[in-house]
Amino acid sequence: MEYGLDAAFPIYAGGLGILAGDHMKSVGDLRVPLTGIGLLWDEGYTRQVLSAGGTLEDQYPKTVRDAVRRVDVRVEVTIKGRAVPLRAWKVERYLSSDLYLLEPEREADRWITQRLYGGGTEDRLAQELVLGVGGVRLCDALGVAPEVYHFNEGHAVFAGLELLRSGRYGGKTLAQRIAKLKKHIVFTTHTPVPAGNEVHGLGAMRAVDADCGFTDKELEQIGGDPFSMTVAGLRLARIANGVAELHGDTARKMWKGTKGAAPILSITNGVHVPTWQDARIRAALVPDKPKKQQDSELWAAHQTMKHELLAEIERRNGVKLSADKLLIGFARRAATYKRADLIISDDKALKKLFDRGVQIVYSGKAHPRDTGGKALIGKIVAASKKYKKHVVFLENYDMHLGALLTRGTDIWLNNPRRPLEASGTSGMKAAMNGVPNLSILDGWWPEGCRHGVTGWKIGDPDPRDDAFDDADAARIDKRDRELLYKTLDKDVLPAFGKRDRWVAIMRASIAMSQWQFSSDRMIEDYVAKVYVGGGTVGR
Ligand SMILES: *Cc1c(COP(=O)(O)O)cnc(C)c1O
Repeated sequence: MEYGLDAAFPIYAGGLGILAGDHMKSVGDLRVPLTGIGLLWDEGYTRQVLSAGGTLEDQYPKTVRDAVRRVDVRVEVTIKGRAVPLRAWKVERYLSSDLYLLEPEREADRWITQRLYGGGTEDRLAQELVLGVGGVRLCDALGVAPEVYHFNEGHAVFAGLELLRSGRYGGKTLAQRIAKLKKHIVFTTHTPVPAGNEVHGLGAMRAVDADCGFTDKELEQIGGDPFSMTVAGLRLARIANGVAELHGDTARKMWKGTKGAAPILSITNGVHVPTWQDARIRAALVPDKPKKQQDSELWAAHQTMKHELLAEIERRNGVKLSADKLLIGFARRAATYKRADLIISDDKALKKLFDRGVQIVYSGKAHPRDTGGKALIGKIVAASKKYKKHVVFLENYDMHLGALLTRGTDIWLNNPRRPLEASGTSGMKAAMNGVPNLSILDGWWPEGCRHGVTGWKIGDPDPRDDAFDDADAARIDKRDRELLYKTLDKDVLPAFGKRDRWVAIMRASIAMSQWQFSSDRMIEDYVAKVYVGGGTVGR
């Protein structure tokens, strides 16, 4: 649905899109024969603007099309009883793999791709029809002939209906056809928040032609009633995966008992190192230098990047932060489970941190219709006014700011309500720039954390937390907040006070992340365990 390739081409909303962009970049670097399909959004995700009065507004600039080239193919889908001709664009910049973006040919049909994650149910279904059904037909038109289709999140699942409908893999009954199709489909789920798993009423699907010609009974057999995109993905796939070890466990628990579901593996996410790791970090650590020299060059590179961030903060917000004091970074989508306000919610404890010089830089966007997320951002903006010398909020979090923050801060804070962070990737970007993580043991961090060596954990997991809606949110928040203050006080701040110790942690953070949390490693895993591994593929 979205690809985050570059800040200048904003057809992404957040982590899911940037992951897809990094996936395609590594596929190109590693010469894996994989073709990407997406949509060309006329307007990308919201551009967040902080007005002089302090209110946040959403703007929607038009997507600039100088990174894409028209390709000479035409495909068609049926939406609401009408033929919708589609055209395709190939992305020419930022990556060396093949990535095609679809959009309606006719102006009158452009409502479908007008705005990423915009519109209501009908818009979403139409978007998913173009992506899924249009995507399969585009592959046919291009002569791509995939051996395996990868549905990266439920958005692409209508491709499975199209493949079933076309009957290309044979089989008489629906069950037989699914069994034959399964060999060619793999599915990735990214969403441990139960409400984040999209479902559609069968009537709504039929009204848009998203039923793809199947009866209600057949649709129910594939995705349940209402039709769950995740259940359908699991049932149509040969193998499925979650996006971190822990998330695989969570997904297995969530979907246990789903009849006909594919086994769910774990493939931990990774980020594209050439995109996200600053070249100055690599230069400081070239192996033929003596260790002492590496250490001093690493620290110097870090301070340079910190100065660059501080200059940008001053330019944007007029606030001068100190280069010698600890700078905590926190930037992510303003989903409530990420608890952006955890550290600022206890005034007394916060003032104690400020007395010891702690500074916090924030950035993050809420979905235009997410009032809870917007309230969170409002709280942070208010804190930045109250504590001018210590808290900063930077507007319009995007890939450019993401890069600046994950290399220019001293420590990267992540405190989601476990186990709701499927993976998280901003912490990987930070880690490989020598910005150690201070995080709840959620998402990828249980795999990367060696407490006091590569960064720090905030407490130990309590099995009661993994009970989703039953868990006592207020109790968890209070406990985690206290643990966060304690870890900062007893572990992080003392380590920051000793240069040698800190540089050793920076080095361990880089060594831990550079390969293990790279998208090259991730692609190798997808190839070995999902795309061609774990069973026969078409032969
Ligand atoms: C990396 C990145 C994300 C995803 O990071 P999370 O840790 O999953 O929140 C989101 N938005 C931007 C702009 C990023 O660079």
